[in-house]
Amino acid sequence: MKVLIIGGVAGGASAAARLRRLDEKAEIIIFERGEYISYANCGLPYFIGGEIKNQAALLLQTPQSFKARFNIDVRVKNDVVEIDSKSKTITVRDLSDGSEYIESYDKLVLSPGAEPVKPPIPGINSDKVFTLRNIPDTIKIKSYIENSHPKTAVITGGGYIGVEMAENLKKAGLDVTVIELADHLIGALDFDMAADVHSYIAESGIKLLLNSGVKEITEKDEGLDIAVSTASGDKTIGADMLIMSVGVRPDTALAKKAKITANAHGSIITDSHMKTSIPDIYAVGDAIEVNNFITGKSAFIPLAGPANKQGRIAADNICGIESEYNGTQGSSVLKLFDMTIGTTGINESSAKNSGLAYDKTYIYSGSHAGYYPGAKNMSIKVIWDKDSKKLLGAQIVGFDGVDKRMDVLATAIRFEAKITDLTTLELCYAPPFGSAKDPVNMAGYVAENVISRKVKQFFWHDVAKLPRDGSVTLLDVRTVAEFENGHIGGFINIPVDVLRSKLDQISKDKPVFVHCHSGLRSYIACRILSGNGYDCYNLAGGWRLYANIEKTLKSSGINKIEDYPCYSCR
Ligand code: FAD
Repeated sequence: MKVLIIGGVAGGASAAARLRRLDEKAEIIIFERGEYISYANCGLPYFIGGEIKNQAALLLQTPQSFKARFNIDVRVKNDVVEIDSKSKTITVRDLSDGSEYIESYDKLVLSPGAEPVKPPIPGINSDKVFTLRNIPDTIKIKSYIENSHPKTAVITGGGYIGVEMAENLKKAGLDVTVIELADHLIGALDFDMAADVHSYIAESGIKLLLNSGVKEITEKDEGLDIAVSTASGDKTIGADMLIMSVGVRPDTALAKKAKITANAHGSIITDSHMKTSIPDIYAVGDAIEVNNFITGKSAFIPLAGPANKQGRIAADNICGIESEYNGTQGSSVLKLFDMTIGTTGINESSAKNSGLAYDKTYIYSGSHAGYYPGAKNMSIKVIWDKDSKKLLGAQIVGFDGVDKRMDVLATAIRFEAKITDLTTLELCYAPPFGSAKDPVNMAGYVAENVISRKVKQFFWHDVAKLPRDGSVTLLDVRTVAEFENGHIGGFINIPVDVLRSKLDQISKDKPVFVHCHSGLRSYIACRILSGNGYDCYNLAGGWRLYANIEKTLKSSGINKIEDYPCYSCR
């Protein structure tokens, strides 16, 4: 059997190695347009920032090591320019001399990846404007920093790569501004969960322009003038370099030319065995359409884990093992200085878009036991299906232990756990690592209380709509000092620890809307009130979530939450 693989990084290299392990006799050739194979794309921003010092550390394999260990013929600087599925051949251009040759196949695997989107903005082709996909892009950016000594950088696009680059350019000593078209960074987060990220990125000295887009880039003798439209009007920002990180699109011109079926966005359509519409041609990785594991709808979720798994599955099927890919749930994690941001499953916006009946709650829980030094709180949002109670998605923003909680939640989703199943998970505990009731358990307990109506919730986006005419009681149960430090208009202060003795000050005939800092003390207050015959509602996420959202809105020129046309919250 002769197997040709187009693309020698995540999906392609994974397919090749598995093929060899399954079939010692097969002839396997990888064609890679670039100079390197099997490199760590995910490590590229950290090489630019200096965290990864040695460029060689980015190379997980070389053509020589692949040959030695797997007996695979790796042809770098070989661009596949045509696929002829009738004759089962491909045409390859050797980029070192421009010559072309033909290679035949029994099976063909496509793993061409995705390319950075370069919107048609005037000036986008300036050599001070960069994108980041591969090692040559990385070297270009790093050399520019080392040789031209830029002092300021604009990052356009605040997704994962944009945020990682913001951190790394800041660490490399540049003054950094992130410009993001949407109302929040990191699209996998909901707007409300991104509020903590916005506060933290600002504290880290990175400027952030939300609801803003680059209109034009003008090159000057030194640096760039970048025309930006913002919520408050147009402005021009000067910068010495610009990183364009507004997303990626499948690199599938070759596949489309070969009449392999693709969707309207150019993603190759495969079945669960990674087979394309043309016999003996398989496709994997960022180039393909996947099923969203939660909604079952087609999706574009370009991540390394799925690409690697799909490469293995394609190899299995080529070798007669019927393994199947059953969807991508989008588990991802991101470092921003000391902060960790993780997501899995769908967020609230997607749940809404998909027409799902869902419920949600927020938890603010310690990374480990509070009495052991160094504990830091993490903010968790979980979303579940109202009918089946299945966990649909989770988002966590924090500093320590976020990744392990996110992996537990990702696993729970994969095994189709109910949100209430989280209460039963027996997770490792000792004071330096966690709490006897882990944040994941806490998410289950809080949701269980919501489902069983032990607590009724209201949300940050409901606060402005609550009547201030005396028809309801608005109660802040934080300490007097916390209240005096800042509070929501219209709320009165009775600290939770004196609440029982002051019940006579609260009318039993009106609903009581309660909040504290994070939602825990107000939950206790609600239990006290409910136990005494009151109709009580708890502000999920508490004052801290509300105040951070308010801060994000103010920095975007929106002074009142009620003026915000927030999609995910109406
Ligand atoms: P790729 O790994 O992109 O490989 C495709 C290869 O195919 C390319 O090298 C290309 O040159 C080659 N090719 C294309 N067409 C041809 C042709 N016609 N002939 C020959 N060769 C061809 N994902 C995560 O999960 N976590 C992260 O932290 C993360 N960080 C990232 C950071 C950066 C800067 C980038 C760019 C990506 C990051 N990703 C991350 C995404 C992850 O790298 C991709 O999802 C993954 O590499 C996709 O694998 P792939 O095999 O589909 O494509």
